[in-house]
Amino acid sequence: MLIILLGPPGAGKGTQAERLVKEFAFAYISTGDILRKAVKEKTILGRKAQDYMDSGQLVPDDLVVDIVKERLQEPDCQKGALLDGFPRTFAQAVALDKMLLMIGTKIDTVVLLEVDESELIDRLTGRRVCSNCGANYHMKFNPPKVRNVCDKCGGDLFQRDDDALETVKERLEVYKKQTEPLIDFYREKDLLSVIDGNKDIEDVFKQIDAVITDIEER
Ligand code: ADP
Ligand code: AMP
Repeated sequence: MLIILLGPPGAGKGTQAERLVKEFAFAYISTGDILRKAVKEKTILGRKAQDYMDSGQLVPDDLVVDIVKERLQEPDCQKGALLDGFPRTFAQAVALDKMLLMIGTKIDTVVLLEVDESELIDRLTGRRVCSNCGANYHMKFNPPKVRNVCDKCGGDLFQRDDDALETVKERLEVYKKQTEPLIDFYREKDLLSVIDGNKDIEDVFKQIDAVITDIEER
């Protein structure tokens, strides 16, 4: 099974992915996480990607496509994969179709998380991430038990540089221009499952769970 999580920054893709991989045992592929790790480790990829990420722009397609191509060939992806944050452009979507053809699999559904813009800004500027295990929190909507300490591993929580208000606004513009057109692309292929992402975390999870369970039972 191959599921794509599509939606603007802050829609809740990472939060839902954390739960979905537990429930369905998919391999998790977040291009944002892979790129952030590369930046932290100062690899060649990280050095190429950093300026784009810091300014809220997309990293060039060829770099991101190569990451996914490699990752999809790893053995854990055979049990199914959940793509978060990829594809984000037409070129990436077309490259993904080619990759899938080569490895003999196909997209089962594209889960679109729809969230109002004012809510997205609140979610992104209040987001906190664990520096150790990457778990995702929100100061107001999903706070840890102890302020700035991860419930799962005790790591320190931090705010992503690109969650500063000005960069958030830029990222939302980039989403509208470059990624939103993919909604029609997948709707035309009859692959889109639209989810009301404004609801609370549990409710959104139930909606996605129902879509995937339905596909599994087909
Ligand atoms: P994305 O991966 O789509 O950028 P995240 O999953 O990181 O988004 O969520 C962004 C922020 O919003 C996080 O701080 C997260 O805790 C919070 N969040 C996620 N889903 C919801 C929700 N349904 N209601 C309120 N806050 C949410
Ligand atoms: P995310 O964690 O998904 O919000 O991604 C953080 C940043 O990583 C984005 O703002 C981009 O700079 C970069 N990035 C992640 N995924 C992609 C992608 N598929 N294409 C281009 N850039 C990406």
